[in-house]
Amino acid sequence: ERMLNLRIDGVQLAEDYTVLIARDHTPMRRLNDTRKQFIADISHELKTPIGAISLLAETIRDSADDAEAVRHFAASLCTESERLSRLVADIIELSRVEARAPLLRARPCAIGDIVTAGIARESLPAATRGMTIHTHGVEEARATVLAVRDQLEAAIANLVSNAVRYSPDGGRVDVTLTESADEVAIAFTDRGIGIDPSEHRAIFRRFYRVDPARSRASGGTGLGLSIVTHVVHDHRGDISLDSELGRGATFTITLPRLPGSPHSKGMPT
Ligand code: ADP
Repeated sequence: ERMLNLRIDGVQLAEDYTVLIARDHTPMRRLNDTRKQFIADISHELKTPIGAISLLAETIRDSADDAEAVRHFAASLCTESERLSRLVADIIELSRVEARAPLLRARPCAIGDIVTAGIARESLPAATRGMTIHTHGVEEARATVLAVRDQLEAAIANLVSNAVRYSPDGGRVDVTLTESADEVAIAFTDRGIGIDPSEHRAIFRRFYRVDPARSRASGGTGLGLSIVTHVVHDHRGDISLDSELGRGATFTITLPRLPGSPHSKGMPT
């Protein structure tokens, strides 16, 4: 089972009297290993856009006489540097949410307002793709949750963004909010490419993508779901997935509601 990482210190108190102190350093080593792995993953992920940017810059330098080529490669250079900025922003965000203590900043918030604001952040990309986002039970929601508003809004925007990015143009996304006595559930349903059950665990790991090329083309960084999961867990909530390949996906987050916050109209107590 558990590999112990014992450090033994001996202190000789007298000529024939030594005290041995054994300390288990396992948790500390695990934390270090996780940090090391995170840094290794980041370095690997940064190499791709940085390599592309250097190559494009050199190509532009060497094509100075060909205005058409310069324009073409400069456009690719812009796309790659935007991708790099998004990646760096997501890495910073993940480190921030991993740093914890978020509930110190948490305040009672109306969940309906947070969901509406989260969806609004993605309305432009959705409209650009001709997609519609339908809400159910969001405007009527009455529940209050303890939340770091900005983080929860961003997590909701992230799930909407995924639903939009992994769906065909012109599709629809449904966001359904349901309240029970002690919980709020928010479901994000798309009719897109779906996810095979064998991938359901892996997609929550940082930098994991089912189809890296598709994720890249749609502006993904592979960090979205890691950030969302962290934020949801920090809010004492949970995230689950119901999906099959080719049949769309439903991601559901549940959050504890603050006691005393009234139910939406018509809901049983
Ligand atoms: P990415 O930036 O690649 O979208 P995420 O962490 O948000 O990173 O998601 C990880 C992977 O999970 C994606 O690359 C994609 O393969 C899969 N995925 C996430 N959301 C959906 C969805 N709604 N439909 C289909 N696949 C999805």
